Order: sequence, then C-alpha cells, then structure tokens
Amino acid sequence: MTTQPEPPASPLRVLIADDEAVIRESYRDILAPNSSKTPAGDKFGAMKAQLFGADTQPAERPQIEVVCCEQAEQAVDAVVQALAAGQPFAVAFLDIRMPPGKDGVWAAEQIRALDPDIEIVIVTAYSDVDPQEIAARVPPVDKLLYLQKPFHPHEVRQCVSSLGAKWRGAQSLRKNQVRLETAQRIAKFGYWELDPQTGYAWWSRELCNVFGLPVDHCSGPIQTLWSRIHPDDEPQVQVAINRAVRERTARSLEYRIRAPDGSERYIRQEVIATDAEDNVCRMIGAVQDVTERKVMENQIRHLAYFDQLTELPNRTFLTKHLTYVLSQAKRYERTVALLYVDLDNFKRINDTFGHSRGDDLLREVSVRLKACVRESDVVTHASRPERPSPMDKSGTDTIIRFGGDEFIVLLSEVAHVQDAARVARRIIRALEVPVRFDATDVVVGASIGIALYPNDGDTDEVLLKNADAAMYHAKENGRNNFQFYTETLNATAFERLSLEADLRHAIETDELILHYQPKISVVDGTVVGAEALVRWHHPELGMVGPGEFIPIAEETGLIVPLGEFVLRTACNQIKQWEDAGVRMPISINVSFRQFRDQSLISQARQALAATGISPHLLEIEFTESAVMEDTRASDRLLAELKALGLSISLDDFGTGYSSLSRLKRLPIDILKIDQSFVSDLLTSADDEAIVTAIIAMAHHMKLTVVAEGVETQAQLDILSHHGCDIMQGYLVSPAVPPGEFESRFLNGESQLEVAV
Ligand code: C2E
Ligand code: MG
Ligand code: MG
Repeated sequence: MTTQPEPPASPLRVLIADDEAVIRESYRDILAPNSSKTPAGDKFGAMKAQLFGADTQPAERPQIEVVCCEQAEQAVDAVVQALAAGQPFAVAFLDIRMPPGKDGVWAAEQIRALDPDIEIVIVTAYSDVDPQEIAARVPPVDKLLYLQKPFHPHEVRQCVSSLGAKWRGAQSLRKNQVRLETAQRIAKFGYWELDPQTGYAWWSRELCNVFGLPVDHCSGPIQTLWSRIHPDDEPQVQVAINRAVRERTARSLEYRIRAPDGSERYIRQEVIATDAEDNVCRMIGAVQDVTERKVMENQIRHLAYFDQLTELPNRTFLTKHLTYVLSQAKRYERTVALLYVDLDNFKRINDTFGHSRGDDLLREVSVRLKACVRESDVVTHASRPERPSPMDKSGTDTIIRFGGDEFIVLLSEVAHVQDAARVARRIIRALEVPVRFDATDVVVGASIGIALYPNDGDTDEVLLKNADAAMYHAKENGRNNFQFYTETLNATAFERLSLEADLRHAIETDELILHYQPKISVVDGTVVGAEALVRWHHPELGMVGPGEFIPIAEETGLIVPLGEFVLRTACNQIKQWEDAGVRMPISINVSFRQFRDQSLISQARQALAATGISPHLLEIEFTESAVMEDTRASDRLLAELKALGLSISLDDFGTGYSSLSRLKRLPIDILKIDQSFVSDLLTSADDEAIVTAIIAMAHHMKLTVVAEGVETQAQLDILSHHGCDIMQGYLVSPAVPPGEFESRFLNGESQLEVAV
C-alpha cells in the first residue's frame, strides 16, 4: 500500500511547566535555540553551563515551538487554548514541584483529561516520587515518561524527537483512519472478518451503518449480522459462505437486508476464505450498500417494460414473459389462455372528447381489467425498489397494454376453458359500466378473442395471431362479445354461461325446490328424518340435478343465496310438519364454499328465529373434505353451529382424508357412510371390512351411523348385521317432493323389513 504525501508538517509544539526561570530558559535553548533571546555570556548562561553542561553540538532538529509556563494552572490553560486553536501540544514537560501553585502531577491529570494524545514527561529533582502512583493517576502508561533533574540537553532533545515522532505517527494514523472511514461512509462500504471455527466476528463501523447496527457494536457472533438478512435470501448467503470455506475461494453475491425501520436494502458482498499462517481458516467479507443502483436498475427496467400511461406491462414485456409462461406450461402440462381485448369505440371517444380524455379512459380500462383477474396475482407496476422483476411472476395472470386500445390478458393457468370465458365475460361486463365525461356517460365496450395453449398454438406468435383472429371474429359478431379461436368451444362456453345466468334467475324466482329423502331406522324400520336435496325445475331443460348446478353455484358465488334458500325452506318445512303434529328432523347439505362463508351462522340464526323451530330438528351435513381443509376456521364454525343447538353430520365419510385424531375432536353427532362403500358391500370383502370398522369406530365415539345409497335388501341385511343405525336409499325411496313425503312417510308406519 502506498501512503499519501502529507502536507508540510507544522512545528512540533512543546509545553514546559517549571517554576524556575532559568530552567525554562534552558529548555528553550535546548529545543528552540534560535528563538532564545538570551545573550551569550549572561548570568543564566554561566549558570546553565554549570548546571547542565554546554550545548556544544547544535544538531539538525525539527522545527519546535516552545511554550513555557511558570505554574501548573497556566500549563492547563495553555493546553485548553492550544486545543481550541487546533494546535495541540505534542509533548509536555511538567515539573513536579511548582510552588506556590499546584504540582505537576495535578497538571498532568488535568492535561490528560483534556488531551488523550499528548506525551507527558514528569520532571523532578527529587527522589521521593512514586512512579506507580503517578502512572495510575495519569494513564495510559505508554504516554508517560520521567526525567530526572538535572537533565542533560541530549535527554531533553531525545525525548522531544522520539516522543514527537511517536505523536506525529499517532496523529497521522488517526487522520488516515478518519479518511478511510469517510471514504467507506461515502462508498457505503463495510467489511467483516470471521473466525469460522468459533463463529465470532469483527466488523467495521461503516458496516454497522449499512446493517443498521449500533456503531459501537463492532464484534460479536456472526449471527448478529446474519440476523439482518432477508429470510428469503439467507439460504443463498449460507450456501455461498459454506462453499467459500470448503473450497477456500472467493465468492460474490447480492442479497437484501432488513433495516430496523423495516426498510429493505440491497447489499453486494465479496467474501473470501483463506488459510492464515497458523493454518486456521479466516473469512473476510466486504459489503457495499448498492440499494441506489438497484433502484436505478428497477427504474430502467420499469421504463423498458411498463407502459407509462397505464403503468401496465407493455408489449416488450409480453414477448419475453409469454415465452417463459409457455415453457412453464409445457413443463407442467398447463393450459394457458390468451385474451386479446380490443376496445370497441375508442377512436370515436378520442375524436369526440380529445386525447387527454382518451388517456383517462385507457387508465380507467386498465383499472377495470385488473379487477377482472385474480387480483392478488396480477403483475402490475410498482415503484418500490424491492419490486421483483416482472419476469419473476410466472404463475400469475398478467394484463398487458399491447398497443393503442389493445390489451392482452394472459391467464397462465386455467383449469377449465370456462374459466377463460368467465374472465372474458367479466371484462365485457366491467367495460359496460359507463365512464362519465363532461356530464356525458360514455360506454366503451370490448371485443375479445381467446386462444388457448396448447390447442390453438404452442408458440407466442401463433397464439397472438390466433387470439387476434378470434378478436376479429368477435368484432364481426357485432362487437362487445368474446369468441374462442376454436369454434366448438364457443358453443360449450355459451351453454355453460347461459346456465349460469339462468341459475341466477332461478334463485330469484321459485324454480328451485327441495325434495326430501327419508332416513329409516335400521332397528325398527320407522322414518326418523329426511335429507333435503335441492332440485332445479328449469323451464326448458326440465328437472336439473344438483350435480350439474352446485359446481356452477360454487364457482360463481351463487352458492351463498342458494344455501340461504335451502336453509330457509327446510326450516319452514320443519315448522309446517311440526304444526301438523310431526317432529321430523331434516338435514341440509352445506358445501365447501358455504362452509367458508361467514354468513352461514347468521343465516341459520335468522331461519331459526323466523320459524321458532327446535334447533335440534335441523341437521347440517358437511363433507369430510370441507371440515378437514381449514381446520381452525372449521373448528370455529362447527362450534358456533353446535352452540345454536343444531345437529351436525359428516357426509360422504370415507371419501376424504380424515385424520382420526381430528375426527375425535370434531363436535359431530352423525357419520354418513358414503354410498360407494355400500354399493359394493356384497362383492367387496374390503368394503365390508371398511364399513364394519367405520360402524365400530363411530359407535365407540358415540356417533350415530347412517348408510347412504342403500339399494338392495341384501345390502341392508349386512348393514343391519354390523349394527348400522340408520339407512337412506332407493330401497325405500329416492328424494321426493314434500307432498309425496307427507303422504308416504309421515304416517309412522314401518318402511322396512329388517333381518335380525
Ligand atoms: P349427498 O348429500 O351425499 O346426497 C346423496 C345423493 O345420493 C343424492 O343425490 C341422492 O339423491 C342420492 N341417493 C340417495 N339414495 C341413493 C341410492 O340408493 N342410490 C344412488 N345411486 N343414489 C342415491 P343428489 O340429490 O343428486 O345430490 C348429490 C349431491 O349434491 C349431494 O350428495 C350433495 O352433496 C349435493 N347437494 C344436494 N342438495 C344440496 C344442497 O341443497 N346444497 C348443497 N350445498 N349441496 C347439495
Ligand atoms: Mg348429504
Ligand atoms: Mg352423501
């Protein structure tokens, strides 16, 4: 390392405190002879020569400035002034006895407190001083010397030259340290050193600033530093460090740290592991805060990949992103949907209201588009530096401003073709809502073309071309609609979508009805309850079963009003039969989506209050998967239902993945064995074993067991033999309208022949 040339040295300042004028003069003569005014041959000269010997060899010596004081107090004042003027003394010669004032040791203590760097020489003619006591009072010991009077000029000169050089060295070291620290602070550059064997580390002050640690905290377990690393980045830092230690190599990496204020900073780190002379591995790391550079990079990326008007990703982004999404889709065998959205009336609006309004409209469209896709997943802009690259988000939906009034909605993973149709329809609906310009309502409308990977093309170019072609088809079809590139998909999409629209209507009118299937006691054949099963009396399609419309209701959220209808109708039915003198328990089915909806409890409470029925007559059937899915939420919900006094049964038992320990804790009353086990009872020994085990387990847990889908007497006999409590199935009756249920099952007659 080369050292920087220092500016010319200023004179070395020496402080003398001695009560005897002749001695002060002699110091001056020895150290700064040119400044001495004393004429040769004067009385002091003769005395000096006598006392100390003649100074015969004036040597080349550094320029020295001598300040003399008669008393200790003056010496302390001189130090105060020197420090204030920025011209500190390098060396102080302090006589011990300076009557009538304080002594030299007192002065030394004061001076040391003022200036920790000054070199102090205690001078005395007496032998009764205790150097140990003085050393204790005037630390540090390496900046304290003793000089015995009478001294020889050489001793004084030598003291000043060697202590002066030492003082200058220390000053220059300090200056260099300050310079280095300043440079490190400007560069936001810190370093650390680690002993991998002990995990103990040392680090620089600037590293404290970068990592947000207290600045006086410069050593400790390396974990002190690592705990600041962003949890997502910590593994890669560990891997790099372990590898550097293992291979004794250098590695560089970038990671994020979390500052105490919660902000994130980007760090670039070079780390090297070497074997020191003692063959012990040492690890040294240099870190630099590169947050500003990262922010710039992100801004540049933002400019390159995002549209400035709408803040949506742009066409350049799409080109890169689509290639990646398709490669992932190929790898994981996913279906990707590309929706080409073209606004219908944009040009006219632009011409009528001006470009600024046109821009407003495009911004509004982008906001509405975002609301139409899975919100949390949308790749949009973000100005924060920690924003991940748009490329990072592969498994999500993306909206792109493709050009003027064209947008692309990329759905990177669609389970069903219908999902793409649904998003397209949502977009059309969202854009049908007028935008208000200057007291005029403007409707923009959109034509959408949909191409699917892999069916409609397996490269970005082909997909875009085909989505574009489908979009033109939509325009030809009268605008404000969507078209799939593959013709046949259009028919299914519309069928399904029209069913969805019809269902919405059905819930509002009285097309939905409940049928009731009797539950029969296996012991005595009497009807002990009914399961309400929903049916849809479709004006054109006739009777539609729940298997066809419950999934649509779940996907669209219509399950909530549908469930409310079922709940209300079943309660009314219980009430009606109660009024007629029959207390007939009715169970209703609650699906997974409903189960997660908070309104279930309030709906149940309302229905109970409105009808005034006994709560235990209402039974709620949940499927196993619904209960097992989100355990905490379902525990709460079941507890609340139980608190209302309702009965709870676990439907389709055996088809899900129940944990037995969880089952034990659930507040259920009834277990319904799934019909798949019942149907094979006669042919499958396994199924018989399972059913037997389920019944035994349920009874052990004090649960009532219901067998579903019992179609034959033989099945019933086996179930009865194994102690099943209740059966349900076509053997007695399918679900029937309420009138039929009343006439057939409310008369109290036994419905079964039970084999004993
Ligand atoms: P689930 O609750 O397990 O209902 C039993 C299903 O088995 C009913 O079909 C019933 O008609 C049928 N079933 C009854 N006995 C027999 C039999 O002996 N043999 C055969 N093969 N089948 C029999 P359904 O009515 O088509 O209902 C199917 C599923 O739809 C129900 O399964 C239930 O999960 C759901 N569901 C029905 N109504 C509602 C409702 O109001 N809300 C909700 N969320 N889901 C409902
Ligand atoms: Mg059921
Ligand atoms: Mg069932």
